[in-house]
Amino acid sequence: MDTRWMDHQLAEIKRKELYRTLRTMESAPKSTGILNGTEKLICASNNYLGLAADERLIEAATEAMRKYGVGSTGSRLITGNTAIHEQLERRLASFKQAEAAIIYSSGYLANIGVLSSLAQKGDIIFSDELNHASIIDGCRLSRAEKSIYSHVNLVDLESRLQQSAHFRRRFIVTDAVFSMDGNIAPLIEFKRLAKAYDAYLIVDDAHGTGVLGTNGRGTCDYLGVSPDVYIGTLSKGLGTEGGYVVGSQTLIDLLRNVSRSFIFQTAMSPAVAAATLRSIDILESEEGKERRHHLLHLSAHLRARLKEIGFHVMGDVTPIIPVLIGDADRTLVFAQRLQEENIFAPAIRPPTVPVGKSRIRICLTAQHSMEQVETIARVMNKVAQELIIFS
Ligand SMILES: *Cc1c(COP(=O)(O)O)cnc(C)c1O
Repeated sequence: MDTRWMDHQLAEIKRKELYRTLRTMESAPKSTGILNGTEKLICASNNYLGLAADERLIEAATEAMRKYGVGSTGSRLITGNTAIHEQLERRLASFKQAEAAIIYSSGYLANIGVLSSLAQKGDIIFSDELNHASIIDGCRLSRAEKSIYSHVNLVDLESRLQQSAHFRRRFIVTDAVFSMDGNIAPLIEFKRLAKAYDAYLIVDDAHGTGVLGTNGRGTCDYLGVSPDVYIGTLSKGLGTEGGYVVGSQTLIDLLRNVSRSFIFQTAMSPAVAAATLRSIDILESEEGKERRHHLLHLSAHLRARLKEIGFHVMGDVTPIIPVLIGDADRTLVFAQRLQEENIFAPAIRPPTVPVGKSRIRICLTAQHSMEQVETIARVMNKVAQELIIFS
């Protein structure tokens, strides 16, 4: 096989300093971890509630594995469905106060499944320019027209909606919490626009679930909005893996019948489903409340400390704390210096974010301590002084 064109492509990626390599974790998810051989303070994990390595989840998974095996052996529609999968769907529906739920093997697949199934030829999807890649790919797979509005810009969205009357159906799709900016979408206003222009509101609450709202029910509960289609992932706040959609029974029945990423995918392992059930138990308990409270308290504290130091901190109340540095090379050096100080918080650069908006992205979890947060602030300050970030 002639692979020279691949070499050229890789060389081009390297030339732009965008070449990606894997980091190897050699320990279970905690606030610190062995990364590429040395212990680091991990500020990059989506394990918001700190449940990914919880003994109780491990026990639930082990028990399910002993009963049902490791692999699920097939699609939910053939041999992959167990009582645990059904129990998890019922539990997610009641957790999210919806009529019904469907689980997918990942949040990525849930987004692709929803958008490619619901938005059809003759329809139009309005999608935020900063939506997650899985939403973008779902839009690509759909035969509907796409209209990309500027980030959380209600004026832009409304003017696009005004010109869409000739489409059969209109769908507005948005992240609830934007993963690179840490901000919360104005869902109340989106819902109002959806009503006014006869559109459906689809919300992907990957980062809000477990973190925001009553019992960690998510961003929609936090803002008091009920979307038409509510998507999320189990792989962040809940500490396991998989994706889900909740909504009306009719919506869920349709997805089960037509969404290809559900039909043609091997079911999630029963062990993962069992661990997720245990995770929801914890979220809904007093302990869950304490974990969320601790996490949001740490996040608010770190935001305030970093602002005090002089950083431009982005986002809202979420545990995603992006710190704007600006220049891509400088941001990379900043992240490398943090690593030398045993803090892992990645540099986020173009094309993931616009040119001039490179940032260090800090993510906190409920496993961090106030002492660790103080360390992060102190080291961030030290590196900023060294690199003369504030002039
Ligand atoms: C992480 C994420 C997903 C993908 O979820 P997975 O379960 O990891 O596939 C989808 N949407 C958003 C906004 C995300 O942040």
